[in-house]
Amino acid sequence: MIPYGRHEVTPEDIENVIKVLSLDFLTQGPQVPRFEQIVGDYCGAQNAIAVNSATSALHIACLALGLGPGDHLWTSPITFVASANCALYCGAEVNFVDIDPRTYNLCPNALEHKLIAAEKEGRLPKIVVPVHMCGQPCDMQAIQTLGHKYGFKIIEDASHAIGGKYQREPVGNGRYSDITVFSFHPVKIITTGEGGMALTNDIELANRMTLLRSHGITRDPALMTHAPDGAWYYQQIDLGFNYRLTDIQAALGVSQMTRLDEYVSRRHALAKRYDALLADLPLIRPWQHPAGHSAFHLYVIRIQGKRIRRTYAEVFQMLRAQGVGVNLHYIPVHTQPYYRRLGFKLGDFPQAEQYYAEAMSLPLYVTITEAEQDKVVRLLTEALTS
Ligand SMILES: *Cc1c(COP(=O)(O)O)cnc(C)c1O
Repeated sequence: MIPYGRHEVTPEDIENVIKVLSLDFLTQGPQVPRFEQIVGDYCGAQNAIAVNSATSALHIACLALGLGPGDHLWTSPITFVASANCALYCGAEVNFVDIDPRTYNLCPNALEHKLIAAEKEGRLPKIVVPVHMCGQPCDMQAIQTLGHKYGFKIIEDASHAIGGKYQREPVGNGRYSDITVFSFHPVKIITTGEGGMALTNDIELANRMTLLRSHGITRDPALMTHAPDGAWYYQQIDLGFNYRLTDIQAALGVSQMTRLDEYVSRRHALAKRYDALLADLPLIRPWQHPAGHSAFHLYVIRIQGKRIRRTYAEVFQMLRAQGVGVNLHYIPVHTQPYYRRLGFKLGDFPQAEQYYAEAMSLPLYVTITEAEQDKVVRLLTEALTS
């Protein structure tokens, strides 16, 4: 099976991880701050907090921004469930903003309309979570302008987008948001096995997220309610979690970061190759907004039933049966049973639902060969035109 995504671990990565295994720290040692420094510097962010997943990063980002019961968080319905679940962890309410049918990102016009209506009802969101779908940056300038006008905070879910650029600057630099979150799950751009990171230029948010990542415990006398009882002393000053990344994982992350730019260029080259090979087929290829430079986590095509003789499900099945690991990113979150129980229903976000009926992720990862790509194209051509 040619999978839709796959990590690359080199002999050098393995050596770097093995080295850590014979050192003094497997967790809470020097590798985590080193990884944070490298990612923070790469992105041009002042603070970076490594955690054990992007889901954890989203959770502590929401808490650091003060999200709680009675508050609202809005995100895109075309995302992994974690972008919405983080609000529910905090006891807040979730709602969605429909997507732009060209970029598949949260649509700023839809956002503005929803904000106008929400203001009248006194239900404005405290946080909006734009998701850089497939690695393509959202229209952050427009979203930030609305944030200033309507008073919401912004968490970029950049799980797909490390190494991408917006307005020629790295995603994660915090110019258009309060916090940016990355994922290092193996299918993403770089990996630590499981892992994530939250980046921010606000030192107070950084301090709060650092506390929340590790039980709400501090050893910093400046943060304590009274002077330390002694050298052994620590204080729990908030209710936090164990969301720490290990030194073993961080060592892998440090090693992977050396290839980030190469990875993104390779993904662009592969996407360009798909673009050329698929040009004459009855499908929609990924459209790229000129303001962004995607990290190309995913190559999503849209298949339109009226242009072919098979159904979407038939094409999907044919490809899977012949060893092509196509996938669907994502099932609209509001249509999941858990969210339907919260009151969402089919028809709520028509662009997202139309996208769901047509979208197919083709295999895209740095080690895919041209022969494998050709096989994907040949079988897809057969499925769409025979
Ligand atoms: C992968 C992903 C997440 C969750 O990442 P984990 O590191 O697995 O917790 C969140 N949001 C999006 C958009 C993702 O693709």
